[in-house]
Amino acid sequence: MLQMHENCPNCGLKYELEPGFWLGALWTSYPIVVAIELPFLFLAILAEGNMVWLWFALMIIFMAIGYPVMTRLGRSAWIHLNVRKIKPL
Ligand SMILES: [Zn+2]
Repeated sequence: MLQMHENCPNCGLKYELEPGFWLGALWTSYPIVVAIELPFLFLAILAEGNMVWLWFALMIIFMAIGYPVMTRLGRSAWIHLNVRKIKPL
């Protein structure tokens, strides 16, 4: 799920700029995950009875399904923060 091209197919940019580069993407993927999951949490807090567990279950299911997308969005944001200008080949 986390496998990516080593280099950009368009400009040849090496994505993993240094060993452990993607660890920094945790900082950019965290707010994305929070923004997506927070509505489920609020709905669970506001729900009554068994609906609480339904919203928590939906939150976990959505998290499991959306994990690859959220991770890649976080990585995309991280590399855009670190690479300002790409030289053409
Ligand atoms: Zn590129």
